[in-house]
Amino acid sequence: MKFQASARKWRPQKFSELIGQEHIVRTLKNAIELDRVAPAYLFSGTRGVGKTTSARLLAKALNCEAGPTPEPCDTCTHCVEIREGHSVDVMEIDGASNNSVAEARELIDNVQYSTSSCRFKVYIIDEVHMLSKSAFNALLKTLEEPPASVVFIFATTEINKIPETILSRCQHFEFKPLSHQQIMEQLRLICENESIEIDAGSLDEVAKNGAGSMRDAQSLLDQVIAYSGRSIGAGAVEEVLGIVGQDTLARFFNRIVERNGPELMQTVQETALNGKDLGLFCRDLIEYLRNLMIVKVAKDPAALLSQRAFDLDVLKKQAEAVHLDELQQMFHALSKADLDMKRSSLPRTVFEMAVIRLLDVRPYQNVDDLIQKINAMTGEVPVAAPAAPSAPAASAPPQPVAPPAASPQQAAAPPAATPAKPVSSSSNKWDEIKNRAGQAKRIFGTYLMQAEVLELSEDELHLAFPDPFTQGQVSKEENRALLKEIASEVMGNPGIVVKLDCRPAESNNEPVLTDNAPGNKKGEKTSPTEQQLLKDAVEILGGTVIG
Ligand SMILES: [Zn+2]
Repeated sequence: MKFQASARKWRPQKFSELIGQEHIVRTLKNAIELDRVAPAYLFSGTRGVGKTTSARLLAKALNCEAGPTPEPCDTCTHCVEIREGHSVDVMEIDGASNNSVAEARELIDNVQYSTSSCRFKVYIIDEVHMLSKSAFNALLKTLEEPPASVVFIFATTEINKIPETILSRCQHFEFKPLSHQQIMEQLRLICENESIEIDAGSLDEVAKNGAGSMRDAQSLLDQVIAYSGRSIGAGAVEEVLGIVGQDTLARFFNRIVERNGPELMQTVQETALNGKDLGLFCRDLIEYLRNLMIVKVAKDPAALLSQRAFDLDVLKKQAEAVHLDELQQMFHALSKADLDMKRSSLPRTVFEMAVIRLLDVRPYQNVDDLIQKINAMTGEVPVAAPAAPSAPAASAPPQPVAPPAASPQQAAAPPAATPAKPVSSSSNKWDEIKNRAGQAKRIFGTYLMQAEVLELSEDELHLAFPDPFTQGQVSKEENRALLKEIASEVMGNPGIVVKLDCRPAESNNEPVLTDNAPGNKKGEKTSPTEQQLLKDAVEILGGTVIG
């Protein structure tokens, strides 16, 4: 049995079979019925949407022995000859290979002769935009005064390259790209008729890759059938196209969220080794990000998702784990990589670098929050009352960020001589105080974590800090007030006394009680508090410590 390409085998032979171009079909049928067929038509639109097919249908409709008729019989000699491409009166010319002025002249000379058997001489010139300027000029005269029984049908994918003089002498029809649904239905019909088993996901994938062109989708289907036989399983389309599947994309995204660089690089390596196109992989990832964005933003995401086999539940779960602005940052990084890969002689490296950049993506911080956090760290602006710890210090103006310094006014308070009676569950109470302080002011909580509780009772809270810096920070007026407020609430005594001491250092090179700001001087070790402070700063501001 001779193989016939699906696109050819399934080429519409009647206007009613033409998919997606109803507006054109209707106009052409009316023109035939009303005997108002124009001497020249121009069909424009992307490839594989039915331009040449429509031209042949029009030729048949005009020349059918039972016609002219909007429904040619498809069985008479003329119809069959035209369908098979043997008619001497219906000429198909490829503009790309017959584009010279000499060829245009030959055609024009030919136009003068009457038809051999048909009613109309039909010239179908495909890719007409490829004609040279002089060829167009030669054609122009004939278009101005065409013989009565001649119809020109020009087809082009690039309407912008058609000279205005030609355009103005043609009836112009713009063919629309076919919808995903239209392509899907036609492919399903073909598969049913050819007894091809194909799963919905693969069918979807084929239709999507047709990108609005029925012919492209049908050619791809032929390729997939040639690869898999009559039963097309999951993954076959991806294999044929050299693209990665949705599962791989979903896993890849999970690795990004987990900041798992080694596995990401491993996947890139495997993808490349399997002969898949990393450029397509990059574009698929971009599309995957779009799907996540849609799931995050849209009320009815299923209707808006790009047409590809996807698992909505997986997308939803992943979308929850990521911020919208993280998605945007990833999108920018990959879009840039997509462009750069096309220009680079090392596309794989460009892609890998972009993937690694995805690991650094963090949600943007709200500037007001940042300012508040910085101010809280330097202790320059009192924060909101502890009763409403999450209330932002609304419009706190940005303060110059001064290096943290111990407050000199707070010298070590003398330890109390007579401790009051201890509270039984003092450690729970202390946890509560610490937690509430941390909620009110995160960095303050960090300071308190380092304190040793010498005394906690209804009457007194006595803390010892490991270094003067921490002690100084906690002793700042507003911090001390905050601590007192929390302690009095927790312990149920508004008159509670708060004492803050510095514990004598156990190690020898740690400075004990000092009024000097413990700057990070040359050769001096960073204290644990400073390390914590630095860690917090890095976390809040995002960045790396150099040196
Ligand atoms: Zn016929």
